[in-house]
Amino acid sequence: MPLLLDGAVVAATIRAEVAVDVAAFRARYGRAPALRVVLVGDHPASASYVRGKTRAAAEVGLDAQTIPLPDTTTEAELLSLVAGLNADDAVDGILVQLPLPDRIAERHVIEAVHPSKDVDGFHPVNAGRVVTTTGGMAPCTPSGVVELLRRYEIPTVGKHAVVVGRSNIVGRPMAWLLTRPPQNATVTLCHRFTPDLGAMTRQADLLVVAVGQAGMITEGMVKPGAVVVDVGINRIEAPETERGYRLVGDVDFESVAHKVSAITPVPGGVGPMTIAMLLCNTVSAARARLGQI
Ligand code: NDP
Repeated sequence: MPLLLDGAVVAATIRAEVAVDVAAFRARYGRAPALRVVLVGDHPASASYVRGKTRAAAEVGLDAQTIPLPDTTTEAELLSLVAGLNADDAVDGILVQLPLPDRIAERHVIEAVHPSKDVDGFHPVNAGRVVTTTGGMAPCTPSGVVELLRRYEIPTVGKHAVVVGRSNIVGRPMAWLLTRPPQNATVTLCHRFTPDLGAMTRQADLLVVAVGQAGMITEGMVKPGAVVVDVGINRIEAPETERGYRLVGDVDFESVAHKVSAITPVPGGVGPMTIAMLLCNTVSAARARLGQI
């Protein structure tokens, strides 16, 4: 059996570490790092993600609040709220849950969050810093993958990493993080125009998949002994369950697992790591800001 890269267990360890950091911060500055999570509308998946984030933040002692806005919120109203949070010295981290209603341009909102409070790491300034290895806040999902690999002591230096999916929030920053020191992998970044995806993925010592298609990576697409990280979260119908669906990844776990040396489960792999890194980013943002004030 492969090594199961258990994100739930590792994330619990990280949360315990963050709780210690938060207590130290509170002792020094007289308040906890403050995170504001903005939720526009009542999309069930987004609402559930936001609940998970604020609950985890509160559990480690952060001052975490959700700001719910009606589905009818205009772009101008949202930008005005973000401007207020930017100006508020008592707020360290701002997260606007995506996706937003169609009439609001996500890019405008992402670019409105001050880079120093951008705990999602989506602002172009932070993206640019990640690319140029000049610091910056890295997006939580790819940095969670790096942290998971690091804690399991999975070697990446000189390895061939293949990333499938090139979104700004997962695939692209994943590729940059893996190529930069200390990861120092050689990275291939695949997308829907990659002609023979299997020919690429079979070369991967480390395969990271972030596409959003249930079970798209099958046994024949992985190299024996590879390390496989499945970022995908897909709902598939499961009438026998209470919820009527279950969550699966982009990797066909059953067929792939026996062939590889290590693999993340879905759920319980990358998902909990994403939230853990959000907590880390919030503490980092608060330290950086208060260190400067
Ligand atoms: P996006 O839809 O933004 O990006 C998907 C990427 O997959 C695109 O770059 C697209 O290529 C590529 N793609 C689509 N079809 C193919 C194909 N047949 N072959 C190769 N590449 C393809 O998704 P996200 O990056 O936001 O999310 C990806 C998955 O990860 C989703 O399931 C999402 O739910 C999950 N996710 C999980 C998180 C976690 O915490 N575990 C956090 C964030 C996301 P192109 O650019 O050419 O269109």
